[in-house]
Amino acid sequence: MMHFKLIIIGLLFTCNFTFARETVVKKITKDVITVTPGKNQLHTLGWPNDIINSIAVKTTKGIVLIDTQNSPANARLIKKKIIQTLNDSTFVYVVNTHGHSCHSGGNCIFEQDNIVAHTNSATEIKDYDDLFLGQTVDFLRKKIYHKTNILDTITATGVLSDSINKAIDLYKFYENDLINNYQARYPDITFDDTLTLTPGNKTIKLSYMGKGHGDADIVVYIKEDKVVCTGNLFHLGSYKEEAMPSFYKNRENDVEHWIETLAALLDDKNEIDYVISTHGKKPFERKNLQFILDYCTIVNEKIKAAKKSVIALEVLQNTELFEDFFKNNTNILRLNDTIKEMHAKNIAIAWKYIN
Ligand SMILES: [Zn+2]
Ligand SMILES: [Zn+2]
Repeated sequence: MMHFKLIIIGLLFTCNFTFARETVVKKITKDVITVTPGKNQLHTLGWPNDIINSIAVKTTKGIVLIDTQNSPANARLIKKKIIQTLNDSTFVYVVNTHGHSCHSGGNCIFEQDNIVAHTNSATEIKDYDDLFLGQTVDFLRKKIYHKTNILDTITATGVLSDSINKAIDLYKFYENDLINNYQARYPDITFDDTLTLTPGNKTIKLSYMGKGHGDADIVVYIKEDKVVCTGNLFHLGSYKEEAMPSFYKNRENDVEHWIETLAALLDDKNEIDYVISTHGKKPFERKNLQFILDYCTIVNEKIKAAKKSVIALEVLQNTELFEDFFKNNTNILRLNDTIKEMHAKNIAIAWKYIN
């Protein structure tokens, strides 16, 4: 698989400071690209790999955008880049893979009434507006305060103070952007189970995954390009053990719904070459989704059987009972201490929801 990487550096001037605003574009197929703000714009803000991928699909009716970044400024940045790269300025649909801020935070800069998401995403967007937006601004202000204090104690100028000044500029930039430009923007078109969009020459199928990462997570399948977008599902691509799914602590984990949706997506009729996650460095493949489906299925079966025969949770947390499964999947990942730890956590979480 080939990727063409283009890095464009532009300058953005604001009242007090200046820093390069960079966009990284990767071509996935003839009509599908990923776009993320450059690493230095997301660095220290807490996003895994300093990556937030938005995905743009070129259709004969215009562009379909999947996920709108974490802030209006970044949404404007990727919007401009997409218009240049795909040579089209009509956004026929804007899809949110769920309502969390790095997937819907830039919705307000898209004027058309064509934002598409799962019904439950409206509550996630409202929660952000009511609560998490304020917390994010507080977080940024604390960072600014803390870094300014460090700067005050440094007497010598040079590399260190430069990097601190850059970080302060970045925090101020986001604080400013969120306070002045962010507006909660809810979806116009919602669905509960599945929805198929057919803009021009493309077939784009949206499927609800069931509760887990959030309450509104969907997968997006672009049939003609054989591309699946998974948003932030299972934190795929986010951490060191990229291909191992992590279940969701303190959330409702609807394991059986995940199995049902993944099985339908992996139907033999659906060809899949690329699986793109929001915070992943590179696309995954069909076999990675198959691995997750098989893992969820075996976890579901073993927990059900254990509860019937009064086997303790701790027994299943040990990967020995899953030895054959992991042996058969060494092309996806190899068991190590991190995977064992993730597995133990997954079992503890799933145990509460499988009966
Ligand atoms: Zn999320
Ligand atoms: Zn995310």
